[in-house]
Amino acid sequence: MGENIEKVKCLIIGSGPAGYTAALYAARAELKPVMYQGMQPGGQLTITTEVENFPGYPDGTQGTAMMEDMKKQAERFGTDIRWGEIVDIDLSKRPFKAKADDGKELLAETVIVATGASARWLGMPSEQEYNGYGVSACATCDGYFYKGKVVAVVGGGDTAAEEATYLSKLVKKVYLIHRRDELRASKAMQNRVFKTKNIEMVWDSVPLEIIGKKEGFSKAVTGVIVENTKTAEKKTIDIDGFFVAIGHKPNSDLFKGKLDMDETAYLITKPNSTATNIPGVFAAGDIQDKTFRQAITAAGTGCMAALESERFLADQED
Ligand code: FAD
Ligand code: NAP
Repeated sequence: MGENIEKVKCLIIGSGPAGYTAALYAARAELKPVMYQGMQPGGQLTITTEVENFPGYPDGTQGTAMMEDMKKQAERFGTDIRWGEIVDIDLSKRPFKAKADDGKELLAETVIVATGASARWLGMPSEQEYNGYGVSACATCDGYFYKGKVVAVVGGGDTAAEEATYLSKLVKKVYLIHRRDELRASKAMQNRVFKTKNIEMVWDSVPLEIIGKKEGFSKAVTGVIVENTKTAEKKTIDIDGFFVAIGHKPNSDLFKGKLDMDETAYLITKPNSTATNIPGVFAAGDIQDKTFRQAITAAGTGCMAALESERFLADQED
């Protein structure tokens, strides 16, 4: 570490709803938070279109606009928001040493980890082309837009089973496309899927291409071409929405061997708390939540992390 090392009371890693809410509370508590935004300033909501389920926006809003609002609110109270990401961190003793990608070094008395999680995608070019225009990785977020329509869900785990069941209550029909002939999901979730009349299983099948229509600037999904993995037979299923549910990857690589994680690499926090196993390090948002993964829950835990940072620092001074 060089001589120009910067001392900060509260370092926030990540600029999604969890990071910005933590910043807002930490700034108002005069912790002078420093935030590194990472490669996706504003987080996951910047890759979606409409957000209708965040309270305070009676007519809904665009994901990017909402994140811009959160940024402004955090800045208004003095959060120091920076481009770039944290590439190295030493949590073995306090103050914690962090290094940003521009070489800048920081000594942080508390750290709030809000690095989020990313949906896994199938990797088809058409999946990217129609992302936000009929392709989604979040039924709770986007299911409502398909009321009375026909959708497909891809995957065979608990997430896919849960998304299919959730959607079945809103839409006319759900095709659940899975690459094998049995689900990986728990028996209870499987039973729920099999008992639901408007879910049709499409076994042994992988999506090859999403098809759609484009008119001027508007785009919409109209179908998906699937291939049977056993017979190589191809067919087109007519759909209005395509939900990818093949898992999420928490952005926790930076903390491997440094913070406690579960078997799927989500950070573990103490019950009713954002405290990690290292005193002074807190985790908020999707990085520690594989159950809800919503903007509002991320924001809620961001608030908790800032309050807990403040209390932690106050306890050190006592
Ligand atoms: P994220 O939003 O994932 O942000 C993580 C942040 O960490 C990013 O800014 C990233 O740049 C940063 N980062 C990562 N690594 C580093 C590093 N090393 N250094 C610095 N920064 C780093 N939820 C809803 O409630 N309603 C919706 O309508 C909705 N729609 C969605 C649509 C889509 C397409 C997707 C993908 C998700 C949607 N969600 C929705 C879910 C919601 O976006 C997430 O639950 C929420 O964004 C999680 O917030 P977060 O702050 O934990 O992390
Ligand atoms: P998961 O268990 O890893 O399942 C991913 C599914 O996607 C698998 O069925 C897999 O197929 C399929 N898949 C992966 N890559 C694919 C690809 N490229 N093409 C087609 N299909 C692909 O992930 P998850 O369902 O998100 O669950 C993650 C963890 O969270 C699990 O521990 C789960 O139990 C838990 N969870 C629990 C609940 C709940 O209890 N309510 C809800 C959600 C998640 P294969 O089966 O062939 O590998």
